[in-house]
Amino acid sequence: MVTTEKIMKNLIDQVADIITTSKLTIALTGAGISAESGIPDFRSAEGLWSKFDPNEYASIASFMSDPEKVWLMLREMDDLVSSARPNKAHLGMSELEKLGYLHCIITQNIDNLHQSGGSKNVIEYHGNSSTLSCMWCGRRFRSDEKRNEYPPRCECGRILKPDVVFFGEAIPEKALNKSFMLASSAQALILIGTSAVVSPANTIPGITKRNGGKIIEINKEKTHLTDSITDVFLQGSAGNIVSEIVEAVKNIKRQ
Ligand code: NAD
Ligand code: ZN
Repeated sequence: MVTTEKIMKNLIDQVADIITTSKLTIALTGAGISAESGIPDFRSAEGLWSKFDPNEYASIASFMSDPEKVWLMLREMDDLVSSARPNKAHLGMSELEKLGYLHCIITQNIDNLHQSGGSKNVIEYHGNSSTLSCMWCGRRFRSDEKRNEYPPRCECGRILKPDVVFFGEAIPEKALNKSFMLASSAQALILIGTSAVVSPANTIPGITKRNGGKIIEINKEKTHLTDSITDVFLQGSAGNIVSEIVEAVKNIKRQ
């Protein structure tokens, strides 16, 4: 009888085979990779996003019209992010990089957890919440310097904005261009914990696929990509699956 574990082991071996033979492997990660670190993703019904609708609180138009209100959400997000630690998935991805099998991570997350987990080559597609900027005079501050202020203000008196990309804002040009180049030349792309609906990050998998790269998808649930362009779908929690991939890759390396 073919058990679920056997099917999973077979898929993990397929992924390890792709990664160890690919000349350029990259990853695109989303909120789901940080869920096991205690930061809820947008789609989960519980937590932060049941209180603050991201469509309302995460748009630049909302921030411009009522920054004080948006800081209610930003303060709670900052509490979660500043106390979060990298989980097995972040650590496994940094190990793959050290082993020489992962060139770069493009992350949609703003939580800095890939870097705290030891990854060196990280493209922050949506910025990073560990710094705040003044949209009026350009001064920049570390978020922890302003943690006791609500809402945090610049020396010029204006309310500060975290250096993250809100809905309706442009992606930093360097991140956009570098991601496009990497996506075009990657022989394998590992998608982890992303629903792939937020534009333009959601164009990355299609670019890799059109250029002949393999798409590996790790998610608790199927997405719109799973039955269209994904080559290998690993269903489950990112922490366990990434750890299993790292073990399988190390076994191939030892042979
Ligand atoms: P999303 O919330 O749209 O989707 C998350 C995906 O992760 C879902 O498909 C879900 O099934 C999957 N998932 C949840 N828990 C998982 C787990 N333990 N293992 C594997 N998969 C899991 O997230 P998105 O696609 O990244 O898009 C949302 C936007 O929200 C992004 O732009 C991101 O910048 C922002 N965001 C960031 C954070 C963060 O920095 N940690 C948190 C929330 C939202
Ligand atoms: Zn200022």
